[in-house]
Amino acid sequence: MLRDRFDRIINYLRISVTDRCNLRCKYCIDKDFPFIQRDEVLTYEEIIRFVRISARSGVKKVRLTGGEPLTRRNLPFLVTEIGETPGIEDISLTTNGVFLADRIDELTAAGLTRVNISLDTLKPEKFAYITGFDVFDRVMEGIEKAKHAGLDPVKINTVIIKGFNDDEVLDFARFANAWEVEVRFIEFMPFSQTSLWDATKVITSDVLMHTIRELYELSPYRNAHKGPASMFTMKGGPGKIGFISPISSHICKDCNRIRLTSDGKLKPCLFSDQEYDVKALLRGGASDEDIARFVAEIVHAKPEKKFEGGMIKKCQRPMRNIGG
Ligand code: SAM
Repeated sequence: MLRDRFDRIINYLRISVTDRCNLRCKYCIDKDFPFIQRDEVLTYEEIIRFVRISARSGVKKVRLTGGEPLTRRNLPFLVTEIGETPGIEDISLTTNGVFLADRIDELTAAGLTRVNISLDTLKPEKFAYITGFDVFDRVMEGIEKAKHAGLDPVKINTVIIKGFNDDEVLDFARFANAWEVEVRFIEFMPFSQTSLWDATKVITSDVLMHTIRELYELSPYRNAHKGPASMFTMKGGPGKIGFISPISSHICKDCNRIRLTSDGKLKPCLFSDQEYDVKALLRGGASDEDIARFVAEIVHAKPEKKFEGGMIKKCQRPMRNIGG
């Protein structure tokens, strides 16, 4: 079992399979930022070996993310291999949804059980503005197909940015009910390259909750896959909403995750620039035991919480690079 110095059990591995993305969300990526060289990106064989070693140490859940994971060729192969790894109980995906309608059958056949789809606006013209591409309808089709394929729950990740989409909070609550999905509002976080970020653009979960309570009675709800979101049911509807509050609250005490970047660095904390080079071991002839020991040491070094000196720090790596 992987246990850190603060008695947290780490059983969740998020893997960024690529830093490439088919969208250019203005808050996530600056247009001209170079991508990681292909030969620096972990191969599927390297990822699968790492998952196998981690699973033996106690990792039970894996989420594939990116960049956009569906831009990487033959992702269903990776889903199957990870899903069949002894010890892995849950394999899920975070995607922008653009390619989901086309790939959903292969992905579910490969064993995918859950999906999170990012969607920051319900207005096609705003979608085209923030992502740089006029593909809103494809994302909606992806959500529909994911539901139809029986993936449950379908979660929608919505980053709220003041002046961009804070006027759509109630629309998203209605959408959660109409589409029977879980909408999770995420506080806008500071990462490098997001020249858009400044503290005045963050709207905290409290404020959002207050707005939604004007229309809906909210009751706390805890689902089987407990995560960083505080989830609520809305009286009178089947949808659920949630709040992920990395800026306004400490979600660190329940943190159960580590992250593997697309270029093979292990990050014990999303908000810290601390990272450890697993790829050097994977490519340098290290044994499984050496790698397992390395992972245990990294887990041990996991910071207690994300704040340094009372302030949340701007991370040097962009989210698409770390894996959101
Ligand atoms: N391409 C996939 C997607 O769109 O979901 C996976 C990668 S994306 C980096 C993962 C999530 O990170 C998305 O929901 C995105 O909105 C979120 N994200 C990116 N930059 C962020 C920021 N500065 N603050 C909060 N969330 C952010």
